[in-house]
Amino acid sequence: MSNSWRATILTLFPDMFPGPLGISLLGKALEKNLWSLDVRDIRDHGLGKHRTVDDTPSGGGPGMVMRADVAAAAIDAVDRAGRPLIYLSPRGRHLDQARVRELAAGPGAILLCGRFEGLDQRVIDARQIEEISIGDFVLAGGEIAAMALVEAAVRLIPGVLGDHASTDEESFSSGLLEYPQYTRPQEFEGRSIPEVLSGGNHSEIAKYRLAQAQGLTRERRPDLWTLYEKAKS
Ligand code: SAH
Repeated sequence: MSNSWRATILTLFPDMFPGPLGISLLGKALEKNLWSLDVRDIRDHGLGKHRTVDDTPSGGGPGMVMRADVAAAAIDAVDRAGRPLIYLSPRGRHLDQARVRELAAGPGAILLCGRFEGLDQRVIDARQIEEISIGDFVLAGGEIAAMALVEAAVRLIPGVLGDHASTDEESFSSGLLEYPQYTRPQEFEGRSIPEVLSGGNHSEIAKYRLAQAQGLTRERRPDLWTLYEKAKS
């Protein structure tokens, strides 16, 4: 399938891929060409005999910075085909399910993975790169963040998960955290499954689950709860 969702990864460590993205349902979907993964080594655009990709920070300080010219050459070698260009960065906007849905609905993404102290600011500005963070913590490189983004997007592509309905009710899709899940055995260390779930009354079950989801969200994520209440009124 030529129009399937396409991820292009720009990295200094291409051997990290597909890694977890080649496992289980995502891996099967990759084999079935429901999505495709194109991994490029930034070092192919490195300079000189040693294929240098980094240099010391201007103004001093520890570590190394990825060069703008090398990163730009790696970016410019990719056929964008209407896809957003994203740099995984702790300074970016936090990734959320709304952005994941947008990305999944589009043609794919080009993901630039940083290493060292990060990337020369000028290439971010010159190529108008969108910065996305996966949370307020610092990783050693952008690869695991890129994998998280790709995994979140690909699982929403029709046909990737067995059960289509399962992404409509999960956490964040309705603005709420998901209700608690249970399965057999009926009794576990003296705790039983809430009675309503075994009663077979589907509207009672839906009511119970909504109340649980609301309670959890109110308690754990006041930020989401405020947005949810605003959207309802
Ligand atoms: N000196 C930088 C951190 C560099 S970490 C700073 O303080 O902001 C090296 C690389 O890891 C980054 O270039 C980025 O690509 C990736 N990275 C680290 N933390 C990340 C996060 N929370 N989300 C996305 N990418 C991250």
